[in-house]
Amino acid sequence: MASMATILRRKLHDNRHFLIQTRLFSLESFSHDTKTTSRIEKILIANRGEIACRIMRTAKRLGIRTVAVYSDADRDSLHVKSADEAVHIGPPPARLSYLNGSAIVEAAIRTGAQAIHPGYGFLSESSDFATLCEDKGLTFVGPPASAIRDMGDKSASKRIMGAAGVPLVPGYHGSEQDIELMKSEADKIGYPILIKPTHGGGGKGMRIVQSPNEFVDSFLGAQREAAASFGINTILLEKYITKPRHIEVQIFGDKHGNVLHLYERDCSVQRRHQKIIEEAPAPNVMNDFRSHLGQAAVSAAKAVGYHNAGTVEFIVDTVSGQFYFMEMNTRLQVEHPVTEMIVGQDLVEWQISVANGEPLPINQSQVPLLGHAFEARIYAENVPKGFLPATGVLHHYRPVPVSPTVRVETGVEQGDTVSMHYDPMIAKLVVSGENRAAALVKLKDCLSKFQVAGVPTNINFLQKLADHRAFENGNVETHFIEHYKDDLFTDPNNLTRAKETYDNARFSATLVAACLCEKEHSAIKSSLPGTNGLLPIWYSHPPFRAHYQASCTMELEWENEYDGSSSEFFTFSITYQSDGNYLIETEEVNSPGLEVKATLLHDQDFRVETDGVSMDVSLSAYSKDKIKHIHLWHGSHHYHFRQKLELDLSDDNEIQQKTNFETALHPPGTVVAPMAGLVVKVLVMDGTKVEEGQPILVLEAMKMEHVVKAPFSGHVHGLQVTAGQQVSDSSPLFSVKFPGSYSATRCSIHHES
Ligand code: ADP
Ligand code: ADP
Ligand code: MG
Repeated sequence: MASMATILRRKLHDNRHFLIQTRLFSLESFSHDTKTTSRIEKILIANRGEIACRIMRTAKRLGIRTVAVYSDADRDSLHVKSADEAVHIGPPPARLSYLNGSAIVEAAIRTGAQAIHPGYGFLSESSDFATLCEDKGLTFVGPPASAIRDMGDKSASKRIMGAAGVPLVPGYHGSEQDIELMKSEADKIGYPILIKPTHGGGGKGMRIVQSPNEFVDSFLGAQREAAASFGINTILLEKYITKPRHIEVQIFGDKHGNVLHLYERDCSVQRRHQKIIEEAPAPNVMNDFRSHLGQAAVSAAKAVGYHNAGTVEFIVDTVSGQFYFMEMNTRLQVEHPVTEMIVGQDLVEWQISVANGEPLPINQSQVPLLGHAFEARIYAENVPKGFLPATGVLHHYRPVPVSPTVRVETGVEQGDTVSMHYDPMIAKLVVSGENRAAALVKLKDCLSKFQVAGVPTNINFLQKLADHRAFENGNVETHFIEHYKDDLFTDPNNLTRAKETYDNARFSATLVAACLCEKEHSAIKSSLPGTNGLLPIWYSHPPFRAHYQASCTMELEWENEYDGSSSEFFTFSITYQSDGNYLIETEEVNSPGLEVKATLLHDQDFRVETDGVSMDVSLSAYSKDKIKHIHLWHGSHHYHFRQKLELDLSDDNEIQQKTNFETALHPPGTVVAPMAGLVVKVLVMDGTKVEEGQPILVLEAMKMEHVVKAPFSGHVHGLQVTAGQQVSDSSPLFSVKFPGSYSATRCSIHHES
């Protein structure tokens, strides 16, 4: 039996052996390659908004210092405040700041960052930028430049994938662009055909061709648009799949040749070819299919020597069940959090460790699949105007509280401005649950409690989507919104529903009236000295008397967010009865009064009780363009009202602006910008005689182009904007003068897709 001393000695020996081994090992790797041992300690994030904030969060957790870059428009933004250091890189337009690769590299060198994370969008898929970083001795946290280049060309990527045995949509991906040859290729593939720019993105320049006689026109049009948007006019042809799903696979590779997949995401629910709700895993998919898809994605990544995070997009024909490679995105994707939720990993942490030269932390068989997750992209946009991007101040911004199953990825705070320069996404709401149904319940609840006011958003629309029966059943496909448009947008023919919505709005208006009175009442009570909050009978302060001794009236106009229309004014008389109790009567005959008890909880939160039922209500009020806006959230609803202000008769100007919200601001015939954006083309000269509907100028914002047309025939006046100029939402562009009667109008919009 070994003595205690022997055991100890042996232990010591083992330890020493271990120490020596480790030492040797690290010395060896040190002498081998100095780069792999110098780990990233400071990282520059070449991006803005939510993705910059999200990357910084992980970096901080890992003890890595962070450097932000910012344009003039983002000087006070959250991503700048969240970083340890921040470098100003230029004026607001992206091409002068966030797309200025040399300024960004220079910022990294100045601050001593060893690595650059590009985020998504901007320079993330620029092989030149990846090369520039490496040339300057900076680690590019992303794939090799060669993979970015190969995958940036849809035709080349398809040729590579085809050779690697990844299934492709039947099509023509050759470099020969002769129109006759292309047309005969189209005949071989069979109609309908989809024409795509080889270097496209964001769904731009794509054309569906139904029959051979449309081919030439569509082809030439696509070529022109591709040249204008991407500087390269090469085209590829694909069989157009009429009822597809968009399913993509998250892949990850390290620098040691290991590649694995982290399951798939379904991103079929799109508007204008852009995703708005994503989920993981894909619903209604068999395990067999799932693993084939995963293997195909891994083969795709291996075919281009991939490392770091990437996404292989597939299009799935719901009729045949066949899946085909569509394209590979060589970056971290907007929707990566749904994958993180179901595999319990932090993909940004993986990106950094792969960039440090470390092997992937787990292998394919160790990738867990935990429940289900959804992401809803919350945008500042005008849904009734065809999802046009919106700009403005976030007067009220209260995202839902985060928890292990609820994530809010955001780059803004209350009071920030959503500017015209960048993507109008306000936040990503990400939820998970133990299965799809549980996650969906959570998604709906969080959407209804996500409070944004000041700019129009798509939250109500997302709620309608999440609530739709077909979505609940997971019957998603890329035309989902188009297919169910009658359910998702208020159908004017559905009078029962319209009436129900109107009645709910009117009920909500009564709650607004009670809450606003109670708020004022509380303020008066707390400001009275020596009364302990009890109102003395003799108190005769005029507003008090007006509001609570007699009755006051309030007029609210409701804005229907689904179609952008406004209701008539709801007019109430409110009588204060006893503590917190109001009797609210409408002017309609035979309509009984409603008793509402409102209790102020915090600044903007109330508990209101009517007819024996009490509930939480939140209220936000602010003034914008001299109009008082009031937003109310209760239950699963959100309502937006405008309050008619009491008029000050001494100021005529004010009255006009207060009573006539939109049209009073500009003379009749004025056409205003339907959104903030860049003027890309002006098609006529000032003074030109134009016909009704004639295109006057082209505006662009984010991935959209809009042709602004003449509202009626006449002469163009006051056209002073020029190509290259930024215009803000509702700013006057020109007017059309018509000899005879004028009609005030907003411009008519034509969407190009
Ligand atoms: P994903 O497939 O992850 O949704 P997208 O290709 O739709 O990615 O774009 C990702 C992000 O890149 C967008 O949210 C936007 O910030 C940016 N982006 C993409 N295309 C453009 C563009 N044409 N102009 C400006 N930003 C763009
Ligand atoms: P982008 O670079 O603009 O993202 P993609 O090639 O990924 O271009 O296609 C964008 C979207 O267009 C897809 O998500 C899908 O909705 C639709 N789409 C692409 N290819 C086809 C096809 N062959 N048939 C039908 N729809 C398609
Ligand atoms: Mg795509």
